[in-house]
Amino acid sequence: MSQRPIYLDAHATTPMDQRVLEAMLPYFIESFGNPSTNTHVYGWEASAAVKNAREKIAKIINATPAEIVFTSGATEANNLAIKGVAEAYFNQGKHIITVATEHRAVLDPCAYLATLGFEVTYLPVQSDGLLDLETLLAAIREDTILVSVMAANNEIGVLQPLAEIGAICHQRGVLFHSDAAQAIAKIPLDVSAMNIDLMSLTAHKIYGPKGIGALYVRRRDPKVKLAAQIQGGGQEKGRRSGTLYTPQIVGFAKALEIGESEMETESARLLQLKQQLWSMFESLGGIHLNGNFAQSLHNNLNISIEGVNGSALLLGLQSVVAVSSGSACSAESTAPSHVLTALGRDEKLAQASLRFGLGRFNTPEEIATVGKTAIATIKSLRQANG
Ligand SMILES: *Cc1c(COP(=O)(O)O)cnc(C)c1O
Repeated sequence: MSQRPIYLDAHATTPMDQRVLEAMLPYFIESFGNPSTNTHVYGWEASAAVKNAREKIAKIINATPAEIVFTSGATEANNLAIKGVAEAYFNQGKHIITVATEHRAVLDPCAYLATLGFEVTYLPVQSDGLLDLETLLAAIREDTILVSVMAANNEIGVLQPLAEIGAICHQRGVLFHSDAAQAIAKIPLDVSAMNIDLMSLTAHKIYGPKGIGALYVRRRDPKVKLAAQIQGGGQEKGRRSGTLYTPQIVGFAKALEIGESEMETESARLLQLKQQLWSMFESLGGIHLNGNFAQSLHNNLNISIEGVNGSALLLGLQSVVAVSSGSACSAESTAPSHVLTALGRDEKLAQASLRFGLGRFNTPEEIATVGKTAIATIKSLRQANG
């Protein structure tokens, strides 16, 4: 078999951890019952597994089990949070604040709400991708009902100051939602200490299964009202109907548990790999870091490269490394990434960019190979461009 490229696209998705798969297996064929069924042992087994998973997930983010609503992933969690709050609070105001660099799963529901008469403010970011708190403060109005700011950016990795944003929202009496798809299990997240009212999670970015995630919804101080977006059997206390997907829920909790318990050592290891890769590019020259090296995910490195064409670069690399240019979600379009544009990068540098997403199974040897190949490819493209 020919060798497959080294996988450095952890922001798009991650492979499952073997330990997660093993935790899931009993719930496909043996304990396959419907967790909502309470008349027989099949249902009881599934129900106990879901209860256990819900408790684990809640504990890790310092929430209570009743505050966890299982969804199909972070896209659905974001939709439920934003549309669900808009629909429940429109009597109090129709103004929503978010940020220009958010994921499409936040931006698009906001754009949809704008067509229904809501008003959306898209805050700009500074050149390193961080939100300026004064800008946020100035944007909050009497009729603002929700502020949505992601925890970690999926393209450039920057970590927004969640605790400070939460404190501002709490003080102004505005609900705070955070898309934490990239941040969970990478940095400590405490919904109580950070004053987060709603938080979106997903399993497949943390070595768990695809198709499962959750929305944390605060139940006291304040009790967040939420209009369901999927109606039916009334599961999840009516907040999200549909038969619970037991194996995926068990796998999600297992993935999160592993990620939390290994966070400290893994985070330090990833920072070394990131530094290893960055120092190779730095010595080459003509490379711009997108983001903020210090206040960023340790598994992210996003660079813009002078003197090369972005698609030629990807083509030159694809047999050696699986990597993204800009966001995986906009890979089909040639439009420059909205995140890099928001940093003020010109179109050329925005297009000539690489996003490295390092993961649990990458080694220093792999990073060395990728760095060497990328540098050789950049040099030859620069030479060809004269
Ligand atoms: C991956 C991702 C999503 C979408 O999550 P799914 O579980 O795939 O729906 C949303 N927001 C961010 C920041 C992401 O990285």
